[in-house]
This record gives sequence, structure tokens and C-alpha cells, in this order.
Amino acid sequence: MHPHNPYAAPDSELDVLPQHCSRDGKFALLPSGCDLPARCIKCNAPVAIAPKKTTLYWHTPWLYLLILLNILIYIIVGLIARRTHAVTPYLCDQHRLRRRRRMQLCFGASLACIALTFVGDHFQSGAVFGLSIFGALIFFIVGLFVSRRLYANKITKEYTRIGGCGEAFLASLRQQ
Ligand SMILES: [Zn+2]
Repeated sequence: MHPHNPYAAPDSELDVLPQHCSRDGKFALLPSGCDLPARCIKCNAPVAIAPKKTTLYWHTPWLYLLILLNILIYIIVGLIARRTHAVTPYLCDQHRLRRRRRMQLCFGASLACIALTFVGDHFQSGAVFGLSIFGALIFFIVGLFVSRRLYANKITKEYTRIGGCGEAFLASLRQQ
């Protein structure tokens, strides 16, 4: 018997290998309706406090063809056709802080670039203005990428194939 741990999730999986979750190459396979084990998705360290769940979205890549037709039709059909799976993106303190620092750096740099547009505007410099708009956009996009913990590579009725996990976490899962 394990001593009672007040921080453990109700169905704590800290000490057992997660049987429902398996590995498929660089992806984790999670059966529909199941959640990830309480381990850091990067380094596989046990995580005691669960973060808020995040919803993964996916639709068949064929729908992107609709963009050629009409972006509005794509958005409407995409919203109807997309599948979702809510999972808990566990991160250890170290990886949580690393993600936060990177996000602060990117969004901070993006804001600095926006501030620079005013300088370019003030000195009537089109080059400074254009470059800073470009920089703000690039840093913002990189920031969005850095903030993403997990993404759905595919969602079917039976399972979700999840990308963004670290090798240490994937290595702990049983092979598909
Ligand atoms: Zn970690």
C-alpha cells in the first residue's frame, strides 16, 4: 500500500506505467475519452498538480482544399467537421518555467517591435516602420508556436494521435 498523498490525482497513475496510452513513432496514442498520465510530457517526471485541461482540435487535411474555394466556407465546414479531445498537458516545474520564459521573451519582443513602429512613424522612416511591423508579427507567431504544448496529429472516433511530447515521455509508453 502507498501512503496517502493529498496532492495525487483521484486515480493517481504516478507509480504505474500508463497502459491506455501508447507510442506511435514520435506521437503518443490516446484512446478516445482518456487523459494523459500525470507525467511531464517532455521529460516524464511525475507531476503532482494537474494544470487546466486543453482541447486539441483536428479535421481531415482535405478540408484545406476548401480555402482555395472560399475561406469562409472552409471556416464554417472546418468548425462543423473538426474533432476534439480534451487532455491535461502535464509539465514539470522546470519545463513549465522554460515555456513561460520563452513565451515572455517572444511576446515581449513583439511588443518592443510595436513600440518601435512609433519611432519609425515619428522619424518618418518607412524602413524602420516596415521592419518593426514585420518583427512584431514574426515574434508573435513564434510566441504562439512556443506556447503550444501539444497538438493533435489525428483524431478518430477511437483514438487521438498527439504530437509535441518529449522523447523521455514517449520512451515510457508501450510500443504500438
Ligand atoms: Zn519536464
